[in-house]
Amino acid sequence: MRIAVISDIHANLVALERVLKAMDALGTEALWCLGDVVGYGPQPQACVDLLRERADVCLAGNHDLAVVGAIPLDRFNPVARTAALWQREHLTAEGMAWLASLTPKAQISGITLAHGSPRHPDWEYVDSHEAALANFDAFDTPLCLIGHSHLALGWRMSVTSNNIVVEEVMELPGLPVPLNVEDKWLLNPGSVGQPRDHDPRASFAVLDTKAWRWTWHRVEYDIQAVEEEIIAAGLPEVLGRRLYLGW
Ligand code: ZN
Repeated sequence: MRIAVISDIHANLVALERVLKAMDALGTEALWCLGDVVGYGPQPQACVDLLRERADVCLAGNHDLAVVGAIPLDRFNPVARTAALWQREHLTAEGMAWLASLTPKAQISGITLAHGSPRHPDWEYVDSHEAALANFDAFDTPLCLIGHSHLALGWRMSVTSNNIVVEEVMELPGLPVPLNVEDKWLLNPGSVGQPRDHDPRASFAVLDTKAWRWTWHRVEYDIQAVEEEIIAAGLPEVLGRRLYLGW
């Protein structure tokens, strides 16, 4: 099965629709979302509606949990807090209930899914060699998919004659990464709605569970349209500007 894996949409409907179109063109058969459907952006309800319709699996991210009040907003910077409070007023009761029903970690078809990290799924960033190394012991499946850092990258752990090697797997869009079955993998599809790896294009990945390989994809979308929605909503303008930088 070819599964489209997305994360960190952050209420960016224009980017989400573009990614769904790209994923449909690739003929993927399922959609897994690793959380942060909402937070930051101008279209929380429309993103919730679309993912309720399209996603086979959806985790809760820390922003989803904060918007529904499950984690305190004082853990967020002022811009994220302002956006979360605005989104609370722009989600239906049904949308809020759906977000509140999600969990930040799951195991499906022998694959671990976690929003942040397998050991701290609602908060920890796996954005360094040290963090990756510390998390390989926190899951017992061959593969763990993570989001949260908004970085399209991954790590592979190989064990050879009592020697454990953890190495970074770089994103090369469109080029499949064969997932050697003897190794353990931590992979992040990157962010749909707010990439932070200095590439402003929306990011997602396709996991082929038959061929056992992973492919990152990037698609351009209309950032200016999203910036205009952010300004019209009265959200902090920096939330639009940062999208052009991919940071
Ligand atoms: Zn996020």
